[in-house]
Amino acid sequence: MSSIYEVLKKYYGYDDFRKGQKEIIEKILNKKDVLAIMPTGAGKSICYQIPAVIMEGTTIVVSPLISLMKDQVDTLNQIGIKATYINSTLTSKQYEWVYKNASAGIFKIIYVAPERLETESFLKLLSNINISQIAIDEAHCVSQWGHDFRPSYKKIAQVIMSLKKRPVISAFTATATDIVKKDILNLLNLNDPFTLITSFDRKNLYFGVEKKANKEKYIEDYIKNNINESGIIYCATRKNVDELYMYLKERNFNVTRYHAGLTENERRKNQDDFIFDKKNVMVATNAFGMGIDKSNIRYVIHYNIPTTMENYYQEAGRAGRDGEDAQCIILFSRKDIVTNKYLIEQGHSINFERNIEYSKLNKVVDYCNTDKCLRKFILEYFDEKVEYDKCDNCSNCNNQIELVDMTVEAKKILSCIKRMGEKFGSGIVVDVLRGSKSSKVVELQFDKLSTYKIMEEYSKDTVKDMISFLIAEGYIITYGNKYPLLKLSQAALKVLFEDEHVYIKKNITKEVTGKLKDEYLNIDISLFETLRRLRKEIAIKENIPPFIVFSDVSLKSMCINFPVTKDEMLKIQGIGEQKYEKYGEFFLIAINEYVKENNIDVIKKRDDMLLKIKAQKKEKVKKENKENLQKESKENLQKESTYDITYNYFLEGKNVEEIANIRGLNVETILSHFLKFIELKKDEKIDEYIKTNYINTFHLTLIKEAIKEFGASSLKVLKSNLPEDVTYFEIKYYMLIKKQERLKITED
Ligand code: ADP
Repeated sequence: MSSIYEVLKKYYGYDDFRKGQKEIIEKILNKKDVLAIMPTGAGKSICYQIPAVIMEGTTIVVSPLISLMKDQVDTLNQIGIKATYINSTLTSKQYEWVYKNASAGIFKIIYVAPERLETESFLKLLSNINISQIAIDEAHCVSQWGHDFRPSYKKIAQVIMSLKKRPVISAFTATATDIVKKDILNLLNLNDPFTLITSFDRKNLYFGVEKKANKEKYIEDYIKNNINESGIIYCATRKNVDELYMYLKERNFNVTRYHAGLTENERRKNQDDFIFDKKNVMVATNAFGMGIDKSNIRYVIHYNIPTTMENYYQEAGRAGRDGEDAQCIILFSRKDIVTNKYLIEQGHSINFERNIEYSKLNKVVDYCNTDKCLRKFILEYFDEKVEYDKCDNCSNCNNQIELVDMTVEAKKILSCIKRMGEKFGSGIVVDVLRGSKSSKVVELQFDKLSTYKIMEEYSKDTVKDMISFLIAEGYIITYGNKYPLLKLSQAALKVLFEDEHVYIKKNITKEVTGKLKDEYLNIDISLFETLRRLRKEIAIKENIPPFIVFSDVSLKSMCINFPVTKDEMLKIQGIGEQKYEKYGEFFLIAINEYVKENNIDVIKKRDDMLLKIKAQKKEKVKKENKENLQKESKENLQKESTYDITYNYFLEGKNVEEIANIRGLNVETILSHFLKFIELKKDEKIDEYIKTNYINTFHLTLIKEAIKEFGASSLKVLKSNLPEDVTYFEIKYYMLIKKQERLKITED
């Protein structure tokens, strides 16, 4: 039997597994059921495909998207793994052929939609063949709480029970809240599964929010800067799509479009043009994207703000599936909020649903207005614990900023809201502050308030931006959904009555039209273009998308390593034996010709390239170290004072909740301060207080057992494998106490 590494190299051409893959594959091979929750692009497919290759028999993959099956099956057959799909797109002849070969056990992998499990003929087929594994892709579809519920998923467990021999079951998804996870475990009838949850974080994605007066111009410059790259630009409405599409087409960009107003034929053609790299910019509404598996999308720009964070992460997540750097940018403008509200009004007739949508939209607006790390914002939105404050790969972390004191303006705004009775939305608050004579202002006698007209020197948008900032920072709380009303938080009272200062961070370096990070610094760009053209020719001839021939990662690797023999080519990332047999020669010839034409000394060139990469890496590490040092000393300073404030409140007799309330911080943050005090052995009273109020000793025993089984490297994995009432804080507390015990032993 081949080792899993041999299979990975031989078929996929990869040298190493990504995080979690090896563990999952080994468990499946040991016949242990698996539930894996990994983000898009993490490499879930390999997790069930490699066991499928190694185990005897056929793996059935249940997948909800018929449109993806063809690509997946094409890709597998390309790399030499016999696979097929059974769905309604097959002609009766194809259908016959597939059933005949499937019955003969020819296929290692068969993809089916869940509905297929309900058909007589398929059930008969299942009872006649040796099934090695049932893999359930997009497993969240089994749950009504998930976002793509498919009733047929509920039949899967029944079908599995009806089999003579129960195969190992593996379930995969990128999105599962706790409730969805429970549904997956129960409804799919998984047998004491090994559960692996990796972070939702997509490290290769840069997140940005840009506030541009001229969005068209921004997009134009952006595309110019990334002219050969594939990207999607999402717009809120068909009209926006058509206008932007025309604007870009008039400027001769290689652009296409997609929305529900086009004919089915147009839509299919435009989608294919994009997938097959004939057009590299897709302007679309969110109707575009389901079932799109194109791996080399380098940017996703939201021309209008998305409607929910869930939609945003899904749409933005279409970028960079190949693991290479990609950018996700929202172009924020206030006007879009109005459009989205209109869309919500149109789309939902039930009040309750509308309110949910409004509160989700408000979160998106907060995302656009926060000055904190965008990645952290997203991950925390999806209930993930994030230990860091800066990711260094989003527009808020990367832009150089300066702190501007806006205490005076904040006081004006906050006291105006207070004087208006904390019952109005931002529109009229702005009117009052700027001294509008609108009938509503006069009628309500707001023109008599002392805060009337005290910000007349500011434009409407500037005051609105300031209010949004105060909302995002927690000074103002919004309530009510469609037209959120404003009221003050505890933190606001500190500004008004205790002279706490408010700082706004202002970008001082404007990031213009993001060129993707160092993208081509290290590769021979003209060879890259040659190989890209060759790839396109082959793809057209074989009628498959170019990225199925070779990924961008493989092409770039060729342009660094200059493989000129078969052995060298097989060392390139993503090139296994079968792929080499099919296409390797063409690329070898092209590279050899290029080398000859340009008189390249290959050995020297490779050395040069390696030196260049090394130098660049060194430079990067140096820069990062320097930045980290600066960041650390700054953070230490800030932290010291924030810890002192908490400690002083504790000495005054305030409890954790009260301190959190007064400081306008989360309870978790204050608890983390207390952990620090315990670590520093600051005050025994604190240890006692925490033990009595926040620690359940039985929970500590459970945590100990869980660490034995799952290790201590991921809090999230531990948390998800413990009863729900065990808190993150208890896990952290347990780890700290253990660490102190270990230290004590070594000291003794
Ligand atoms: P998911 O299903 O989790 O969204 P895929 O299975 O489609 O992700 O994989 C995303 C991309 O990552 C694919 O191009 C795949 O070939 C690549 N990939 C997967 N595993 C590895 C690995 N171990 N090394 C390099 N690339 C990998």
